[in-house]
Amino acid sequence: MGTLVEIAAYPDTNRVRTAVAEAYERMEAIEAATDHREEDSVLAALRRGERVTLSGDLRAAFASAMMIARESSGAFDPTMGKVVSLWGFDMDTPRLPLEQELRNSLKTVGFEKVTLAGSIIKADSPVWLDLGGVAKGYAVDEAVKVLKEQGASAGIVNAGGDLKAFGKKPGGKRWRIGVQAPDDHQELAGVLEITNGAVATSGDYERYFETGGKRYHHILDPGTGYPARSGLRSVTIVAFDCLLADALSTAIFVMGPEKGLELLKGRDGVHAVLVLETGEVLTTGGVGSEVGFERR
Ligand code: AMP
Ligand code: MG
Repeated sequence: MGTLVEIAAYPDTNRVRTAVAEAYERMEAIEAATDHREEDSVLAALRRGERVTLSGDLRAAFASAMMIARESSGAFDPTMGKVVSLWGFDMDTPRLPLEQELRNSLKTVGFEKVTLAGSIIKADSPVWLDLGGVAKGYAVDEAVKVLKEQGASAGIVNAGGDLKAFGKKPGGKRWRIGVQAPDDHQELAGVLEITNGAVATSGDYERYFETGGKRYHHILDPGTGYPARSGLRSVTIVAFDCLLADALSTAIFVMGPEKGLELLKGRDGVHAVLVLETGEVLTTGGVGSEVGFERR
């Protein structure tokens, strides 16, 4: 998943140590299931137009991605695979695609052209899935399940800032989660305090390259195929599940502050911290009350 994963769990017993090892294994299995780079992966077969049966993990991640795609009217779209691969953000060497290449690749994009029937994906033409917007969140949630099932009373699974925490730490303190400032890895825009729940961030500083004096980042607008420019530098979502936080943060980054906040209305237990291009930090109602927040 292109990131460092850290797991901490309590109490420090042999059983819980084994649980931590199993949680890593569970995440590796999900990474393999949702992989699209290897030619022998299910997603590679799908884009060659082969009929494939989805594993339980792939089905779950895809179904959730499709739900967020519908709810965000396609600002989040798991069928962006061909466009993502043109930019190479999923590889080590990103590059600026030609306009013509982008136009052609955009023809393969459109979650509404794809349906899930049982464990089969149905579409009229090959489907280029990229589950990079949900896989990390899903893997974090599943790792937490393993820890809890194996007797951990508290813990945190952190996949490069997309994380889920549960239970009381020794000493009973809440989990403190830093929200990074966009331009300085050492600086924080604020600190969240949560008890049980997940946090995920999408930011334009996470993966990007510069060419011709311009910056290009990895969160793409499905309407244009170019990096989304919606007035935001980062979106941090607090939710019970990391998958939801992960997908919503990407969707809202694309939608921008106004439409993005609209998407959050009526979702109990879901909160947001938005860092705008102007440097302003916007928070939803529950931030500072339902979840703790200190501005920096
Ligand atoms: P995140 O860092 O969680 O915001 O996820 C970004 C990743 O999701 C990218 O690296 C792509 O693999 C994929 N992605 C980029 N743009 C979109 C989009 N508009 N909808 C769904 N997935 C996307
Ligand atoms: Mg995300």
